[in-house]
Amino acid sequence: MPAKIYYDQDADLSVLKDKTIAILGYGSQGHAHAQNLRDSGLKVVVAELPGTANYQLAIQHGFQPVSTPEAVRQADIITILLPDEIQPEVFRTQIREHLRPGNYLVCSHGFNVHYGQFDIPAGVSVILVAPKGPGHLVRSEFVRGGGVPCLMALGENCGPEAKQVALAYAKGIGGTRAGVIETTFAEETETDLFGEQVVLCGGVSALVKAAFEILVEAGYQPELAYFECMHELKLIVDLFYQGGLSYMRYSVSNTAEYGDYTRGPRIITDQTRAEMRKILEEIRSGQFAKEWILENKANAPAFKAMRRREREHPIEQVGRQLRRMMKWIEAKEV
Ligand code: NDP
Ligand code: MG
Repeated sequence: MPAKIYYDQDADLSVLKDKTIAILGYGSQGHAHAQNLRDSGLKVVVAELPGTANYQLAIQHGFQPVSTPEAVRQADIITILLPDEIQPEVFRTQIREHLRPGNYLVCSHGFNVHYGQFDIPAGVSVILVAPKGPGHLVRSEFVRGGGVPCLMALGENCGPEAKQVALAYAKGIGGTRAGVIETTFAEETETDLFGEQVVLCGGVSALVKAAFEILVEAGYQPELAYFECMHELKLIVDLFYQGGLSYMRYSVSNTAEYGDYTRGPRIITDQTRAEMRKILEEIRSGQFAKEWILENKANAPAFKAMRRREREHPIEQVGRQLRRMMKWIEAKEV
């Protein structure tokens, strides 16, 4: 079934006109939501931690950040834009007791709501408004007069007005200029996790690393393995982004296109598909969420060890050197 998409004419900003919106966290999403909503004529209060860089940034942008409990007390609409892993603790200790019936809690990712990490008080509605792009784009597109497409979802105990509130919020950040797609917390959360695990972060990294290792083992120079298996990925992804698989295939050589059709399917085999389904099942059953929540409660020892080990991989070492040779790259180091 094709998605239902909402635009500017479907949303009415006046639904929010006498409301105060609290933006908790002035990071990637927070700075964009706060400024776009304010520029849309709405009343915004920002919460940030004193002494941090983003606290200073909020001041530079003309806000006077307050504490999280204070912002929640002042607001009718409370948007939680803190890192997902710390949200449950902050919700429990600094948000929950200050919520009032009739308040709306807004999230930009469904993980904590979908996996039951927030104990939502009666009378509070939870909605999702999730831009499909990083915060800097949500801000820069808005300033240009455009917007970034958003997903919208209504939580379980939402009343009939919740949809208009969600659409008005999406309009306030510029989302309805581009289009807002209705979804559910489950669908947003599960597809987001699946995409990042199987393709965007997990799948692609594992594919690139394995191909690099195979070439190096076979005696090829690591520098060439890096160029062919990692560096050039950007050119391909940019073509996907502009015109899908067809445009990529139109742009590369016929030899590359023939290799794509005949060899690609040998890499993603029935066994790989079975593993993808298993990963999806772990997401749907909550097994992945449980594992990650427990890992964080233990201060993430396994996570930190994997991060350290992965940073030492030879592809990272050769990549660092080669990127220095390419002056046009804005080379970054963690
Ligand atoms: P960031 O990490 O960029 O920003 C979070 C901000 O919260 C930081 O400024 C951080 O300060 C601040 N902060 C941390 N702890 C507290 C606290 N206890 N009280 C007040 N402020 C605090 O997060 P994102 O913007 O990336 O993510 C926010 C939400 O948006 C998440 O749910 C994420 O899934 C979602 N999202 C993110 C997208 C993205 O592209 N980044 C895209 C779509 C959704 P400090 O920097 O000092 O730690
Ligand atoms: Mg995502």
